[in-house]
Amino acid sequence: MRVLDASGILRSGLDFSDSKYLITNGVREEVEQENARTAVDAAVERGFIQVREPEEDSVAVVKDAAKKSGDLEKLSENDISVIALALETDSIIVSDDYNIQNISRILNIKYEKTFHSGIKKKLNWIRVCEGCNREGKGDVCDVCGSRMKRVPSRTSP
Ligand SMILES: [Zn+2]
Repeated sequence: MRVLDASGILRSGLDFSDSKYLITNGVREEVEQENARTAVDAAVERGFIQVREPEEDSVAVVKDAAKKSGDLEKLSENDISVIALALETDSIIVSDDYNIQNISRILNIKYEKTFHSGIKKKLNWIRVCEGCNREGKGDVCDVCGSRMKRVPSRTSP
């Protein structure tokens, strides 16, 4: 099953017949676009979307993880409910929200990004020697003479 937040609903193409979807009441109310509301209501009526609230226990787990990661104040009650619902139903979250994605990773919840490319890692490239592993410049290592290869730097600013 897939749990949608408001961004997930809007990016779904408003066709919910391809999977089983879950939303919370809060997310349902958050959808303001008229065509999206109509599509959601129709999908709920036809059973493609179930409206459900998470248990208090899962909400507590999510809040705890968010507090530790520093995401808590950036998450709305709706966001927390979405994550908690995915956690307890072992569902995939469909969301554009960076903080939702971050907590999902921490709690090992699968998520699908929708429109944006999700968490963007800023990669810096450096050259490292294939022989002695030294960082350097150019195509050939000036310490051991081996080839230099380009690798992404993990310690980017
Ligand atoms: Zn070298």
